[in-house]
Amino acid sequence: MQEKKNASGVSRRGFLKALGVGGAALLVPTAAGAAGDRVPAPSGAELATLLDLSKCIGCGACVDACRESNAHKYPEPKKPFPPMLPAGRAKPEDWSGKRDVDDRLTPYNWLMIQTAEVDYKGRHYEINIPRRCMHCQNPPCANLCPFGAANKQVNGLTRISDNLCMGGAKCRTVCPWRIPQRQSGVGLYLHLMPRLAGNGVMYKCDRCHQLLDKGETPACIPVCPEGVQTIGPRAEMAVKARELARSMNGFIYGLEENGGTNTFYVSPVPFELLNKAIDKGKGKPHLKRVKDVMADESNLAAAALAAPIAGVAAGFLGLGAKLLGKGGNGGGKESGDDK
Ligand code: SF4
Ligand code: SF4
Ligand code: SF4
Repeated sequence: MQEKKNASGVSRRGFLKALGVGGAALLVPTAAGAAGDRVPAPSGAELATLLDLSKCIGCGACVDACRESNAHKYPEPKKPFPPMLPAGRAKPEDWSGKRDVDDRLTPYNWLMIQTAEVDYKGRHYEINIPRRCMHCQNPPCANLCPFGAANKQVNGLTRISDNLCMGGAKCRTVCPWRIPQRQSGVGLYLHLMPRLAGNGVMYKCDRCHQLLDKGETPACIPVCPEGVQTIGPRAEMAVKARELARSMNGFIYGLEENGGTNTFYVSPVPFELLNKAIDKGKGKPHLKRVKDVMADESNLAAAALAAPIAGVAAGFLGLGAKLLGKGGNGGGKESGDDK
């Protein structure tokens, strides 16, 4: 795939080389050990990120840093994939031969940049928007996963354990932005129900949990030449987001969406306009206003039903993972290092 270039024609990697931070220099040390069951934020609070979209130049340094820092978690599927039942209906999803794709979310690309060209109040804007999991406060992906494979940690991030995920994609169905992406030919289903189960593992931004666990910053943040992102306790970040929005007479996205997320975008242009202007579709999330998915009564009922099932399934699958030498944690909580 051709390397993506920004408005000034500079490619991502070219830009990094110019900065002298390409390749290995970007490689953040990988997970030293297991994440533990629940990792508290330093303050004991949920962490949120604030992105000042007025600063983003769309250089893609954050995308490259994400890929390098998390490459050790990417799937290495076994081929050929087992034929699925019902034949013809359950199609495998295979991104393993398209690992360079960076213009959408994939199991190998957890962060992408959308660009919106808009006119607003007599001015032309080009707004670049880094997109990945919003890390919702009450995440439907975690509440409704029937296998207990997706979990929210007390520090506000949501992770999918590749030791427990069966690839059924319930998390993607219930996510308002359809963030998680499936890779077939990898995961527990191959050992337990190779022809019947969901057929893979779901992947998404895990907020670089291995770095946060060590008190370090997620890889996409410090590499940014424009200082677009900051991270800190949610309440503090919410105050800063409001101040920033006020200072630019701008708008906030993520504070209220889906009942509240741990990602706040601040833009000088209304998000309704940005949503109209961005390329949307599979792996390309929208920017529409989003109601609280878990406030829906049928989802609440489904969550109540899923919780005990997920607990039993996670215990069973975790045991299965251990027996298979996959290191599952047996409790439906976060397992050790994902890969
Ligand atoms: S957030 Fe920073 S690193 Fe990422 S594209 Fe924007 S300017 Fe570049
Ligand atoms: S954005 Fe989607 S995948 Fe991320 S925590 Fe929210 S519901 Fe889950
Ligand atoms: S927080 Fe980590 S995993 Fe998430 S987009 Fe940034 S670098 Fe990627």
